[in-house]
Amino acid sequence: MIIVMKKDATQNEIQTVVNRLEAIDCEAHVSVGRFRTVIGAVGDRNQILQLPLEALAGVERAVPVMRSYKLVSREFHESGTVIEVRGVRIGDGSFTSVAGPCAVESRDVLFETAEAVRAAGATVLRGDAFKPRTSPFSFQGLKEKGLILLAEAREEFDMPFVAEVLDPRDVDLVADYADILRIGTRNMSNFALLTEVGRTKTPVMLKRGFTATLEEWLNAAEYIYKEGNQEIILVERGIRTFETASRNTLDITAVPLLKEMSHLPVLVDPSHASGKRHLVAPLARAGLAVGADGLMVDVHPAPDTALVDGAQAILPDEFAELMRSIEVMARALGIPL
Ligand code: PEP
Ligand code: MN
Repeated sequence: MIIVMKKDATQNEIQTVVNRLEAIDCEAHVSVGRFRTVIGAVGDRNQILQLPLEALAGVERAVPVMRSYKLVSREFHESGTVIEVRGVRIGDGSFTSVAGPCAVESRDVLFETAEAVRAAGATVLRGDAFKPRTSPFSFQGLKEKGLILLAEAREEFDMPFVAEVLDPRDVDLVADYADILRIGTRNMSNFALLTEVGRTKTPVMLKRGFTATLEEWLNAAEYIYKEGNQEIILVERGIRTFETASRNTLDITAVPLLKEMSHLPVLVDPSHASGKRHLVAPLARAGLAVGADGLMVDVHPAPDTALVDGAQAILPDEFAELMRSIEVMARALGIPL
């Protein structure tokens, strides 16, 4: 149930509604919007329906939410969520570019890439210290050493960074360093991990499970939001379809759909979607065209020697060229970068 308060509702009236909900063991999530406050009630539906909510002072209307996800739904929060990390705003109508190597391999590769993507216009650095690999014998990441290098690159190039966290036991460690935590496709349904990142105050990028529907994905976001962490960025990274010509299929339809369904910002990741270098730029531009809030791209100065995902990494020069075309398109569409 979503309780929409009147524009002039007082703090006391809001608190009264919260108290009534909590008295029946229901969670009350208060969302203060620009014009009005909305309260999301999560609990036993029948009990909530029995409360005379619309009769309480300050309440404009109580609307049952039929969707399985509630807190991340547009109904709960009419305006889009804007996330700010070290001065970079994501979801404010601008287009944010996140770029960097798939994994942190060495100081040299990380710094060379960070410098180049920063110069080309990226504002957030990516690079993982913990890698989810299909084979347990493949490079698994530099762990804390990688996080330390990322933190150094952040200072050197003045860019916040995002890094993946794979295990609930590592959430505090990664959150100590990273500006944004990332949950990868394989962990979208790892509810223990979602709950744990939900308890931090660090923004979370939640990638789409490669077989997940939009509804399942938004329910995964709900696990994070429910714990109190409202700063969630959705990343469409391709889903597994019958097509084998590319690694996955970038579901661009998901972007405008998510914009209707949810208030969370949406990025596209054309690198993990395609798995192929030459497909990255056209898919990135498609993301901008369908209304994504930004993109995330793997960049590597020597992809042939990359320890992870070399086949999809683009060169720094190719990234710069991509950014030039993004600039032209964004200007034509009236989207600030
Ligand atoms: C990544 O971004 O490096 C990654 C592993 O992505 P995904 O979880 O989407 O495969
Ligand atoms: Mn990768």
